[in-house]
Parts: sequence; C-alpha cells; structure tokens
Amino acid sequence: MTQETFTFQAEVGKLLNIVARSLYSHKEVFLRELISNGSDACDKLRYAALTDKKMAAIAGETYQIDLTIEKKKKTLTVSDNGIGMSRDDLNELLGTIAKSGTQAFAEQLSGDKDADMSLIGQFGVGFYSAFMVADKVEVRTRRAGEDKSWLWESDGKGTYTIEESDRATCGTDIIMHLSAKEKEFLEPERIRNVVKTYSDHVGVPVNMVNGDDIETLNSASALWVRDKKDITADQYKEFYHHVAHAFDEPWLTMHNSVEGVLSYKSLLFIPTMQPFDLFNPERKANIKLYVNRVFITDDCDELVPSYMRFLRGVIDSEDISLNISREMLQRDPMLAKIRKGVIKRVLGELKKKADKKPEEFATFWASFGPVIKEGLYEDFENRDKILEICRFRTTENDGLSTLADYAERMKDGQDSIYFITGENEESVARSPQLEGFRAKGIEVLLLTDPIDDFWMQSVTEFQEKSFKSVTRAGGDLDSMGKDAKEGGDGADKKDDTPGMDGLVALIKVALGDAVKDVRSSSRLTDSAVCLVADDGDMDMNLERILKQHKQAGFESATPRILELNPKHPLVSKLADAAAESTEANPVIDDAAHMLLDQARILEGESPLDPTAFARRVSQIMEKGLSL
Ligand code: ADP
Ligand code: MG
Repeated sequence: MTQETFTFQAEVGKLLNIVARSLYSHKEVFLRELISNGSDACDKLRYAALTDKKMAAIAGETYQIDLTIEKKKKTLTVSDNGIGMSRDDLNELLGTIAKSGTQAFAEQLSGDKDADMSLIGQFGVGFYSAFMVADKVEVRTRRAGEDKSWLWESDGKGTYTIEESDRATCGTDIIMHLSAKEKEFLEPERIRNVVKTYSDHVGVPVNMVNGDDIETLNSASALWVRDKKDITADQYKEFYHHVAHAFDEPWLTMHNSVEGVLSYKSLLFIPTMQPFDLFNPERKANIKLYVNRVFITDDCDELVPSYMRFLRGVIDSEDISLNISREMLQRDPMLAKIRKGVIKRVLGELKKKADKKPEEFATFWASFGPVIKEGLYEDFENRDKILEICRFRTTENDGLSTLADYAERMKDGQDSIYFITGENEESVARSPQLEGFRAKGIEVLLLTDPIDDFWMQSVTEFQEKSFKSVTRAGGDLDSMGKDAKEGGDGADKKDDTPGMDGLVALIKVALGDAVKDVRSSSRLTDSAVCLVADDGDMDMNLERILKQHKQAGFESATPRILELNPKHPLVSKLADAAAESTEANPVIDDAAHMLLDQARILEGESPLDPTAFARRVSQIMEKGLSL
C-alpha cells in the first residue's frame, strides 16, 4: 500500500504548538511520557495474554523498553514489545484528540504561556511531547494479533502520513529525529539521569542501548511492593505523576499493606489540585487494579465510592482471580472488602490531618470537600465519620469549624443547628434572614456548595441536635439568646405597632397568590422585609438549584411567605396609614408589590413583573423629586 497523508484534527495542531512552547523548560519530560506509554502497552499485552490463548502465544517471555541512541543518525528511539497499534489506532490515538480529557484541555488553552503551563501541569500531554525535541517523529508499530505493521510519520506541523511497514513482532518504536539543539538527548549520561529521575518506578526494565552497550537504567520493580523505608518522597511523587497522569504534587500519599484473610497492597494518592472534570457526572475514580503485579483494569467502579473519586493510585491483591472477565470481576466479593478497607483508611487519614494539621486540611477541603460531602447521603454506614471531617464557615467564627465546635458554642435554649444555603459566602452573609440571628449572637453555618442542599435533606441531626434552615426558623429566635423574651413564637405574633394587623391584611389582599402568606416577624432588624419558606415547603436555594438544572416539576416557583419588620420606619409608616382606614388603599397596594419585589431581589431573584416594578419606582421617584 502506498503512503497516505492525513491532517491532524484542528485541536492537535494547536496543542502541539503550545506544548512545544510552554513545556520547553522541562522538555526532558518527553522521555517520561514515552516510557510511560511503553509500560502501559506492556501492561495491556500482559493482561491480554492472560485471558486469551492466542495472545499468550504472541506475547514475548518478558517485557522491556529499549532506549536506543544512534548518534550518527541523530535519533533516539523508544521501543516496547507491548500491545502495539493498528492502523485505526494510529489515526484515532495519534491523529485526533480522542480522549475527553485532552479535548477539554485543548479547549481551555488560551495562548498565554503561564496560564497554559499550569493547565499542562494538570493534564499531561503524553505522546505529543516528543515534538518538543524532534523535528520529525516516526512510529513503527504492529498490533498484537495482526499481520500488518505500520509506519506513522509527522513533523508535527499539521499533517501526518501512514504507510505499511515491516516490523516483525508486536510492539512499537517511537523514532525521534532530534532537532539540532537537542543533541543532549544523544548523551548516555543525560538519558540515565532523566530515567532515574522520572521513571525509576516503571515496572518493566528500561534499557539504554548505545552501540553494543546495554544498560538497565531503572529498578524495574513495582514501587508499591517495595518497602516504604526504601522509597523517597521524590519517587512517590514521580510514581503519582505516572499513575495519575497528573503533574501536581500529591497532597497525601498512603502506602499500605494489608495482611490477613484478604491481603492486598495499596498505594493511593490525593492530588493537591482539583481536576477540571471533578464534577462531570460520568467521572469515575482512577485506581488501577493489579493482581500479583499484573495490571487488570483502571475502570472498576467497585473499588472506591464515587465520593472518593479524587483518589489516584494502585491496588494490588493476590486474592482476586486472574482469569475472570471484567464483568465477573465487578461481582467479586473481594472487591467489596477492599473497598471497605480503602474507605476506612482514607477517612482515618483525613481525620488525622484534619485534627492535627488544620491548615493543610483546609487546602484539601477547598478542593474536595464538596465531593466528600456526597458521601453524607451516599454512604450511610460511614456518615458519622464523614461528618467528623466536614468543615464549615459560620457567621460567628473566622476560618473553618467542625460541627462539634459549633455545638459547643450553642446558646442556652438553642436546640437546633442553624444553617443558610446559597450561591456564595458573600451573598449568603448579606441575607436579611440572618439579621435576627446576628442580633442575638446565634451562630449560623454558611453553606455555599450546591451539594449542601442535598445532604441536608437526608442528614437530619448531629449529636441529637436537628439541622434547621434559618428560612424556617424565625420563630425559634424569641426563645433564645441574651434578649430572649418570654415564650411565644416570633412570626404571627401580636405586635405593639398599632395598625400592623390591618397592614398585614391589606398586603395579603394586594398580593393575592403571589405569596403564600404575609406576617409580621421578629427575625429582621435592619431590612424591611424578607421571604421565607413555609414549614414543609422546599428550601428556596434548593428550588433555585433544581430550576437551574432544569429538573422537571420545578419550572414554577413555590409561593413564599413575606415577612414584615414592624420596627422598620417604612413598615411602621404604612401601618399608621393602615390604622387610619381599612379600605383598600392604592398607596399600600403599590407598596405591597414593591416590598415583595425588594424581598425577591434580596434573594437573588428578579421582580415578578419588571415593567410594573420600573413603573412604580419611577412614580415614587417623581413624587420624591417634586417635593
Ligand atoms: P495517554 O497515555 O494519557 O493515554 P498519550 O498521548 O501518551 O496519552 O497516548 C495516547 C494513546 O496512544 C495511548 O492511550 C495509547 O492508546 C496510544 N499509545 C501511545 N503510545 C503507545 C505505545 N507505545 N504502544 C501502544 N499504544 C500507544
Ligand atoms: Mg501517555
């Protein structure tokens, strides 16, 4: 077959450019990327050979990666005897950005070097990094089990070619024609150093071939089976980069060996940076499962719960059957046991950090707190343990608080843990709902993750104290705090302000179905009005979130209760007017609508009827100005 020319998918071209420019100060990482791909390819063939007799016959006795230096040709070649690639693979894997992660990456590239560099840090760029050092890259490859081999070739400038080739056995050679200024990668010392630094943990031998000299450069034993005390922090870090395809520092490294009825080793990491797709609903954990050092799968949902999907790393067990299909594997009872062990370990380590290193824990919490909180409704068994590591911002305390801290600070007569939910801390802290609580020094949890509205539905109490939204708790205020009055319930309470009852009645008539009820309330100190949810009605913020996500059934809003502050001058003036006459009054009618719209705006909603709202504002301004 003759040579065919193809054009890179548009994003690839852009990616190649930016990678070459931004990563240049760390250009030696290309070698780590290619070695990592070679080792993945060996893992894949090793697994295929276990489950497929035909593959077993094709696979070599041993696996290895060779780095061949040819000074005269100015080439450095990375070869592996792994699974190889078919012609379709070449087009799909090297010609397009098929992986969703890389696609998202390309979309986020801005062209600004510093910003892109930190993005690259999060994603890793794999194969394309070869173009940082090479003018031309050839990929000679043969897929295990196929009778044809292929040569892919490109200068990384927009097109590539594919033609038939003559590789006798399965595997891949990546031949880099080094550009004139990258001759350093023909020096054995340089190669030795790079491999030691970045790829020592790779489980297959990495050999340097220089003329007749052959030298194995790495330890070639799986890192997780080595003794903890023989592993340096840098080695852990590089391994993390390798398994997680990440470039940040691991925030936490957990290396453990469990012996007993079930034995397994685990080397797990928690990243520092939040991955860009953490909240993608399809996103899964990224743990590689090995059986006796043989890679089985990195797509096993059963290993860790989705509320720990930020975990990266490896679990290796001798007690899982090697020859079972992936479908059977999902039902292996051993997996459930490992999962239990992992959850316990991770929650235990997080608790330790949270108690002993609160500042470090705060960075974890900022990145992954919202994910951990999903466990509050997904993992009933561990709910209490999860609650122990949850941290909260509150109205009365700078920094993060535990629920136990909050409980200790509760006021005499306070039976509930109060919270308010909303989009962000600023808007929540401004809410008029908090005024009464502030006035009495009663602490309120400020919850600003969308997930908070959901777990609050299922976690009803902590240390026998119920959780209560401030939008429903106005009545509690009277019986609590330093200036607590005798008994009574704040809302609906008879007030001293004469005319309040009449005003409430007139406003009710004016607003009709737009509100569920109107009442005088003690929860407000500064604002004239606020909206609250009736007992049993959906919390306002939750309704807003559901509406944003276009959940069926939440298109129209639940009518709310409008509360009036009898101490506010505007309200008391209106009450005076109402006291004079109980007849319908156009001034009160307009005021009723404007008060409702005001309350809605404070909640982050828009006025019910913006045209009418604008008209009323204009009229009032006109009156005010003509005085
Ligand atoms: P990643 O390794 O993160 O998937 P890369 O850009 O490094 O991304 O590689 C893209 C894909 O190309 C790999 O997932 C793999 O399927 C294929 N590939 C790359 N190098 C090899 C190789 N040496 N042998 C077999 N397949 C390879
Ligand atoms: Mg790779």
